[in-house]
Amino acid sequence: MSRKPIIAGNWKMNKTAAEAREFIEAVKNQVPANELVDSVVGAPNLFVEGMTKGTKDSELKVAAQNCYFEDEGAYTGETSPKALGALGVDYVIIGHSERRDYFHETDEEVNKKAHAIFRNDMLPIICCGESLETYEAGKAEEFVGGQIKAALKDLSADQVASLVLAYEPIWAIGTGKSATKDDAQKMCAHIRSVVAGEFSQDVADKVRIQYGGSVKPENIADYMACPDVDGALVGGASLKVDSFLALLEAV
Ligand code: PEP
Repeated sequence: MSRKPIIAGNWKMNKTAAEAREFIEAVKNQVPANELVDSVVGAPNLFVEGMTKGTKDSELKVAAQNCYFEDEGAYTGETSPKALGALGVDYVIIGHSERRDYFHETDEEVNKKAHAIFRNDMLPIICCGESLETYEAGKAEEFVGGQIKAALKDLSADQVASLVLAYEPIWAIGTGKSATKDDAQKMCAHIRSVVAGEFSQDVADKVRIQYGGSVKPENIADYMACPDVDGALVGGASLKVDSFLALLEAV
């Protein structure tokens, strides 16, 4: 089964609008063809309008970082998925461990957000991953399996086949301590088996699963060689033009 790789940068709360524009200008004509890889930049929500306009004639796709699960209403300070969809945003990253840890995002909210993202014609990139404590206790598969089942609740088979799952062990994010390729492969295969159990083997064969956690140009090829790893979600190494392009070229 061949799945198109997807490399997504997650800028987190970095860059100003001017810096984001500069980045887009520098990379937009050097991104590999869309048939080879989906190249995505996850910008702070504040800049996504500029990003969608700036990437219009390019193969680069835009992700927002998080959104609320209601389309509109009295939710001061939240980001409307309806507004993101109307701006032409392609993906929304949800369930990132930083959102879960610092902002107490629950599995139930991640699921509601996934529904809201589909409702507004975008695709979710749903993050999952265990803490070091859970990993060391040998409970990572059980924990991540639970996150996946909760996140995908009541989505249709077609929706699940089209979305992206990102396995990001918390102990590997921003630490420089990446998971081994065997660890990444084992967990991505497990996630795929959970999807097969909840939906079907056909859906599991279609869903794309990324690895994330200290991915850089020097190690991305190791992960991409794993049969169940379909791409990477990348924080630090996606911030610089050269390393972002190197990540795309390694696919
Ligand atoms: C991330 O934030 O999703 C991430 C994987 O960060 P880093 O690549 O910096 O570890």
